[in-house]
Amino acid sequence: MSAQKETLGFQTEVKQLLKLMIHSLYSNKEIFLRELISNASDAADKLRFEGMAKPELFEEDPELKIRITFDKDARTVTIADNGIGMNREEVVANIGTIAKSGTKAFFEQLSGDAKKDANLIGQFGVGFYSAFIVADKVTLTTRRAGETVATRWESHGEGEYTLEQVEKAGRGTEIVLHLKEGEDELLNDWRLKGIVRKYSDHISIPIEMKKGAGYGENGEVTNSDELEVVNSASALWTRSKNDITDEQYQEFYKHVAHDFTDPLAWSHARVEGRQEYTELLYIPSRAPFDLYDRERKQGVKLYVRRVFIMEDTEKLMPHYLRFVRGVIDSNDLPLNVSREILQESKDIDAIRAGCVKKVLGLLEDLSANQPEKYAAFWKEFGQVLKEGVGEDFANKERIAKLLRFTTTASESEEPTVTLADYIGRMKEGQDKIYYITADTLAAAKNSPHLEVFKKKGVEVLLLTDRVDEWVVGSLFEFDGKQLQSVAKGALDLGKLEDEADKEAQKQVEEASKPVVEKVQKALGDKVKEVRATARLVESPACLVAGEHDMSAHLERMLKAAGQKIEGSKPTLEINPEHVLVKKLAEESDEARAGDLAAVLYDQALLAEGGKLEDPASFVKRINKLMLELSA
Ligand code: ADP
Repeated sequence: MSAQKETLGFQTEVKQLLKLMIHSLYSNKEIFLRELISNASDAADKLRFEGMAKPELFEEDPELKIRITFDKDARTVTIADNGIGMNREEVVANIGTIAKSGTKAFFEQLSGDAKKDANLIGQFGVGFYSAFIVADKVTLTTRRAGETVATRWESHGEGEYTLEQVEKAGRGTEIVLHLKEGEDELLNDWRLKGIVRKYSDHISIPIEMKKGAGYGENGEVTNSDELEVVNSASALWTRSKNDITDEQYQEFYKHVAHDFTDPLAWSHARVEGRQEYTELLYIPSRAPFDLYDRERKQGVKLYVRRVFIMEDTEKLMPHYLRFVRGVIDSNDLPLNVSREILQESKDIDAIRAGCVKKVLGLLEDLSANQPEKYAAFWKEFGQVLKEGVGEDFANKERIAKLLRFTTTASESEEPTVTLADYIGRMKEGQDKIYYITADTLAAAKNSPHLEVFKKKGVEVLLLTDRVDEWVVGSLFEFDGKQLQSVAKGALDLGKLEDEADKEAQKQVEEASKPVVEKVQKALGDKVKEVRATARLVESPACLVAGEHDMSAHLERMLKAAGQKIEGSKPTLEINPEHVLVKKLAEESDEARAGDLAAVLYDQALLAEGGKLEDPASFVKRINKLMLELSA
């Protein structure tokens, strides 16, 4: 078959990425080498894994390695590996398209401001394309292990690439970077070796380079073609903690996590006991763009005795810790462990439980000793960690202690209050942790339900994250104190209420029987019940959900998510002390009383963020009342 050259177009997003990346990452251009070496190392991992079942894939070349060379005259730098390689389909799928889900949405976030975008791009991961930071032409030649034909991919990074079928003796991938004008400093032995040592020392296979310039026995300058290994070439996590610098931990993170930024914190331990394993787990400093994408990959890699087995499995980390990155290397699991075996494995359950404890321990340590770092963590991942309260029964208490809230006592909107802080500030006689859920902080803060709590100086948690309903639905109590919604059930302030309060409530109920009946009649079956309340101070009315009903907020969220639910009817509580309610009590015209009652109900619904069933009628009634006022 003749080797025909074919020209193909990049996916739109790739074009965008290339352009942006070249502009925004230029100041950090040496990272291209780290990215390409990282890919080569992954390719070696994949071959080692596939080679367990098919040893013939090694093609009598079992020593996995990476080689870097340069050619001063041709002005090229070449990175070659003998890893798994790619066939034609894989080249098209991997280099030329971005298959990550959520890519489109990600690109819509880009602003055109190079600095901001550089940050975002780091979060997205640029990988192979970073070659175009320093090269104006890239030639990638690759042959998949076990196959005979090789593929050459070539591009100037400007919208198109060519594909060609070629011969290649060794398996794996070779990438030739034709350097841009002005990048000649890279054609230097010391410079390249320096970059490799700085960013890629942790790579577990040897990175070879020619010995290059040196001095011979008699002091003469030599130029040796002999190869030397430039990196430490041992898996970082197998080394002793004392032998690893922070910089090395950070660089290794960037490799395993495909992230550009330094991690926030890490935990590295060799665990002995029933299961022997090493874990090196990282908390990133920034949430990836697809944290909420259901299809996103999990970030912890499983190794068995240094051999990479798999990533992307929920068996290693629970869903609520899906932001954790790193490596777990087991000494006991069989090398041929499959996803199916993992699914059933008690051993992996034990490893996972141990690693979850390590991560929670790391977070506890941050929260106790590095509050600023913990605040940064909370900002990025707090909402995800919250899911754990419902997901991880065994660690519920520990997770609850890690939660942070904004409350009515907070000075800023930052969530900094722990449940323990809250309990420490509880009023005498208070035996519950009060909370309110709402769509926004403003809606929560100004809710009529808070009025009596403000009056009594009782702190209330303001819950505005979507996940909060799930949290309060799972965490019924903390430290023996029950969590209580302020918008559910009859107001029960327990011992916070003194005799005078109770007496007042009783009198209010007695005295307002007629107006309650009037409103009840006007609203009919819109509400379950109407009752007079002492919980309101400034507002005329509010809606209250039944003690065991779904909260109105949750009901709205579920409806917005497209779920059909039969909402339960709320109770309307009215404040007999309010002038409007007094007016209503005095109103003898039945139609006007009906209008006033309907407005009270609609207002109460609006005040808690609800949606009116019939907004036009509401407007009409308000206008009518306003006209009467001015008449
Ligand atoms: P990422 O590494 O984040 O997936 P890249 O753009 O760096 O993104 O690479 C895309 C894909 O191309 C990789 O996931 C891998 O499948 C493939 N690839 C890149 N470099 C190599 C290589 N040296 N050998 C084999 N496959 C490679």
